[in-house]
Amino acid sequence: MSSKITIDSSITVGMLADKLMIPVTKLITELMKLGVMVTVNERIDFETAQIMVQELGLEIELERKIEKEINFKTAKTELKDHIAFPRPPIVAVMGHVDHGKTSLLDAIRGSSVVKGEAGGITQHISAYQVQHNGRSLTLLDTPGHEAFAALREHGAQLTDLVVIVVAVDDGVKPQTVEAIRFAKKAGVKILVAINKMDKPGSDSNMVKQQLAEHGVLIEGWGGDVVAVEVSAKTKLGVDQLLDMILLVADVEELDAYLDIPAYGLVIESHMEKGRGPVAELLVQGGILKIGSFIVAGSTYARIRNLELTDGKKITEAAPSTPVIITGFKDLPTFGDKFEVVADEKSARMLAGSASDSKQTGKTQIDMNSSELIRLINRNNAVSELNIIVKADVQGSLVSVLDSLKALDTDEVAVRVISSSVGIINENDIYLAQSGGAIIYGFNVELPKNVQQLAHRSEVKVRQYNVIYELIEDAREEMSKLLPPEIIETEVGILKIKGIFKTTKNSIICGGEVTKNKAIAPAMARIIRNKDKIADVEITNLKRGPQDVKEVLEGEMCGLGIKTENKIDLQIDDRIEFFTREVRERSI
Ligand code: GDP
Repeated sequence: MSSKITIDSSITVGMLADKLMIPVTKLITELMKLGVMVTVNERIDFETAQIMVQELGLEIELERKIEKEINFKTAKTELKDHIAFPRPPIVAVMGHVDHGKTSLLDAIRGSSVVKGEAGGITQHISAYQVQHNGRSLTLLDTPGHEAFAALREHGAQLTDLVVIVVAVDDGVKPQTVEAIRFAKKAGVKILVAINKMDKPGSDSNMVKQQLAEHGVLIEGWGGDVVAVEVSAKTKLGVDQLLDMILLVADVEELDAYLDIPAYGLVIESHMEKGRGPVAELLVQGGILKIGSFIVAGSTYARIRNLELTDGKKITEAAPSTPVIITGFKDLPTFGDKFEVVADEKSARMLAGSASDSKQTGKTQIDMNSSELIRLINRNNAVSELNIIVKADVQGSLVSVLDSLKALDTDEVAVRVISSSVGIINENDIYLAQSGGAIIYGFNVELPKNVQQLAHRSEVKVRQYNVIYELIEDAREEMSKLLPPEIIETEVGILKIKGIFKTTKNSIICGGEVTKNKAIAPAMARIIRNKDKIADVEITNLKRGPQDVKEVLEGEMCGLGIKTENKIDLQIDDRIEFFTREVRERSI
């Protein structure tokens, strides 16, 4: 009878040899025979491992470890023995710029958050929960639509419902269309909020008709999509909108298990002074409790602090609750799934194997996940070059867009806020102005009056007939968004032997150069044992009464230090001297 061994979808050669209980050299030789040149630490995939077992004639059956998909829908069917409880809907609010998304979210929060609790809201939060008629709903400030879509591709359902905000006086615009496309692709329910109804002479029929042209059929207009007329300004219709959200959600019968280890998604993370990595998580199933160990991607945490997004401290959080936690060893990334594990040992092990496969398992990173990583980084980090693309025909438009997409890096990305076939028109200029975008025209005209408008509005319009040149231009613009590279070079180390005078912003002291040399003026950091105490500036060096520019290893000298705050320098502290060079970068 053959024995059964379970392995991951990829495994290092060394580990496989171990599991098969054969010398690693034997395995490597066998792989070489098949033309696979690998070293002991390299990974091979499951299929290759299986072939090896056969080639070696071993009585062993390999089984692929099922990677646990933390997915609400699958969890439901897998966990028949558990009882599901209703959970609040998770709602994303999307829409064209200036149509009142932010105002509407504020109106909802303002009318629903219990007074006194709201004080803690100081920074941008990407999700929060509100109460309406004794029920909860979770609202998400839309991150990039693409990020949502990418998450969806990975089986992670972040939203149950999308509210599309359309300003009654402006109608359906490119980002409205994008939001519709997103919601349809993601297969989530749509609800329309027709905003700014307080404006005199508002008539929502126009918007309803435009929506119909884009395949969103409103109730009374041949379809069943709910549209609510609202005004974020006067709060008209806001309660009704919340009623409708809950009603639409009820049809979906949203539920979750409570008696399973909690799991969910990382929706934001950042470093905070004094708190370390801070992560915002959305609980999707189970009950997340303070003190639990959780794994997210290649990092893990013992939950030290558990708070609601308004800063209120809690000890446990039920499904659909967005929470802020501290305790992570490293920053988790947006889109990472998290789950509770039994103890620190399992947490460390799971996080370790995830980081392992991240580093060596190149074969495992498919296009989708690298795309996701890019989007994730983009979400955290930042720089986007907003552009509008106009082209003569659909074919060239697609080519331009594809080539532009290929320029994206982890730090800077192109964000196409609108693209279409046709000449550059006034609307493009207005859109570029409000979205801070550059317009790229490919084989298209720029009528004189539009050119003048662009000039007056200070909108950049670039026209090209050669794709390559257009792309190079965009590349240059993107490079300008990159933070410059800072190159630090260590110069030398000095050990403090005496401290003569300390004020709030300066220290006069003396010491011995123990490595290389000390120079002035220079940047430096003070190190005690292994910890950095402070970043400082060395203003001058003295040998005897004389000011000198450098002092070599083995020599003693006096030094003047400029500090930002008062520092309690101590004998035997080390001063590391370094230089810093700023270099412009390009992609
Ligand atoms: P966002 O870009 O979609 O987040 O839009 P904002 O919430 O920033 O709103 C854009 C502009 O529209 C702001 O000047 C708001 O004051 C205004 N606005 C938003 N909602 C309403 C509304 O219901 N009525 C009126 N009259 N103005 C509104």
